[in-house]
Amino acid sequence: MHREHLTRWLKDAYSMEQSSIGSLERQADNLDQYPEVRQKLLQHLEDTRWQAEQLKTCLDRLDVKPSALKNLTGKAAAVVDNIAMALTKEDVVKNGLAGAAFEQFEVAAYRSLIAAARACAEPEIADTCERILQQEEEMAAWAEREIAPLTVEFLNRSEERH
Ligand code: MG
Ligand code: FE
Repeated sequence: MHREHLTRWLKDAYSMEQSSIGSLERQADNLDQYPEVRQKLLQHLEDTRWQAEQLKTCLDRLDVKPSALKNLTGKAAAVVDNIAMALTKEDVVKNGLAGAAFEQFEVAAYRSLIAAARACAEPEIADTCERILQQEEEMAAWAEREIAPLTVEFLNRSEERH
């Protein structure tokens, strides 16, 4: 049945946002030298916490109890987890690439969820996913724009150290 797929995909999205919260927190901790990037990540961290709450509300509409979400943390689709795990301490540029890929994955996930929610005649869920999608698109576009200047800034900084 359609709704079972929708429910499963919403749970996946919930896990994805939990992974995202963890990796944004770790990233923000390691970006003291890049205050603007850090600020943007902290802002998206706020958005991401809101997204997780919204997804809980969507799942509630489909009669999924909060207790059913407890063990989902960190069990996002392997592809998403691999990206989140690639976010390591040493390399700001590598993290930027992984972060940009992660946001693109989220954009694709919410486009899919919107279509699924419409197919299941769940317009409220589709609307919620539309609002989340806007945040992800904005973040994905920002990440894409930042990659080149971040790389140059990183190179200039490593120059200074030598
Ligand atoms: Mg998100
Ligand atoms: Fe995001």
